[in-house]
Amino acid sequence: MNIMANGAHLPETPREFGFFVDGAWHAGQDWFERTSPSHDVPVTRVPRCTKEDLDTAVAAARRAFEDRSWAGLPGAERAAILLRTAEGLRRRRDEIARWEVLENGKPLTQARGEIDHCIACFEVAAGAARLMRGDSFNNLGDNLLGLLLREPIGVVGLITPWNFPFLILCERVPFILASGCTLVVKPAEVTSATTLILADILTEAGLPPGVYNVVTGSGRTIGQALAEHPDVDMLSFTGSTGVGRSCVHASADSNLKKLGLELGGKNPIIVFADANLHDAADAVAFGISFNTGQCCVSSSRLIVERSVAREFESILTAKMKKIRVGDPFDPETQIGAITTDAQNRTILGYIAQGKEEGATLLCGGEALDLGRGQFIQPTLFSDVTPSMGIAREEIFGPVLSSFHFDTPEEAIAIANDTVYGLAASLWTRDLDKALTVTRRVRAGRFWVNTIMAGGPETPIGGFKQSGWGRESGLLGVEEYTQVKSVHIETGGRTHWIAS
Ligand code: NDP
Repeated sequence: MNIMANGAHLPETPREFGFFVDGAWHAGQDWFERTSPSHDVPVTRVPRCTKEDLDTAVAAARRAFEDRSWAGLPGAERAAILLRTAEGLRRRRDEIARWEVLENGKPLTQARGEIDHCIACFEVAAGAARLMRGDSFNNLGDNLLGLLLREPIGVVGLITPWNFPFLILCERVPFILASGCTLVVKPAEVTSATTLILADILTEAGLPPGVYNVVTGSGRTIGQALAEHPDVDMLSFTGSTGVGRSCVHASADSNLKKLGLELGGKNPIIVFADANLHDAADAVAFGISFNTGQCCVSSSRLIVERSVAREFESILTAKMKKIRVGDPFDPETQIGAITTDAQNRTILGYIAQGKEEGATLLCGGEALDLGRGQFIQPTLFSDVTPSMGIAREEIFGPVLSSFHFDTPEEAIAIANDTVYGLAASLWTRDLDKALTVTRRVRAGRFWVNTIMAGGPETPIGGFKQSGWGRESGLLGVEEYTQVKSVHIETGGRTHWIAS
């Protein structure tokens, strides 16, 4: 064991996983080896599956759907399995958190918190499995009764990203299972471990074979093939808007499968002069730095009222300089490593672009050399203009752009000046302003005097090019169902043909 100063353990050799299909583990023929982005040591090896492996997984999911071993169960029995899974997550919380840290680079304390959220997702979905219902029409006349049945959509493909490998998985899987669907998951190749560990926990909880399948590999091969697969009824994709668009094409060119898309964001955080500026600055610092800004709902555009803008930026700068960047196993660490080499290059590229474009750098702006791993200082640019690249594009890193406004109308216009519409936050003590802005800014999630709050009860998803559909909550279960309208005639038929 390589024991680090803070007591955390790195694996001596990478942990090897198989892929999981039809309730059984299968060995790969070829392997992808993941290196910890914080420690530069190999930590996991996962199979590079083939398209044939994917076909086998989709066929298993199809069988498990058609044989009714899952969809045919009473909601109460599906709920019992989801609740046992929540217990399994509780038991294996530290193990799951450790592999999240090793593959993703996020702080251990944060990873543990995320798993608590995942447990809640399974518990909420268990409730939904029992409460899911359709509707009825008792107003069609005495001879006709209308029923609206909700039926599971079938086999779901699920493609997840590397920024919240377990959290994003668990904001979807329990709700998909609650609906009665079966699924094939393709996690981001660099963060596959915890998606595979979930297979173990679901199996222990009593999930029938073939209901949850995991096929590992790259997006270009397995992801693309899953999006194109003619026997997948729905695809839920979370990741970049570019790949989201390619999933739309793949669906159109194959079987017109239904799509759920959660894509990029360039999320505004609006601060009015009457807000508690210290609370707001703390939220802004958190909103851009949490998970090193590799977060689809990161508040990456600060829109602050001009009369307090300089004062606010100075409070914010002082706070951002205090953020502890470091080894994710250190309990004091607030933000860890940048997850992938490509993302590290992208973020540093945007920082260089911001400097070249003439924005004023107030803090950060550099990579941090901690002797190993890849880390970037939380960075704040002011005097950003709408045409700059850092103003418009999703950076997906701890890089914040600050804009100034004079009137609420101007704040709303800046907030909406983006192709995205995932999330927004606003800070004011004035109820009138709060309600006006909340109703006018186009975003799927809104936080008033708070940031990134909420649990699995509320649905998540985006407006505009941030996506289609909603995940989590009751809507997140309904998303994976389709509605059948049933008409039942009572009494004799009025004949069409005269007797
Ligand atoms: P991608 O959109 O490329 O990856 C997300 C998922 O899609 C991964 O599982 C990936 O697999 C898979 N994938 C990649 N290509 C295809 C394809 N052609 N068909 C189907 N699936 C595919 O995001 P990146 O990881 O490359 O990150 C790039 C940018 O995307 C970030 O800078 C950020 O702006 C944005 N992003 C947004 C996220 C969000 O939550 N909204 C999450 C992640 C990224 P694999 O990684 O194994 O190749």
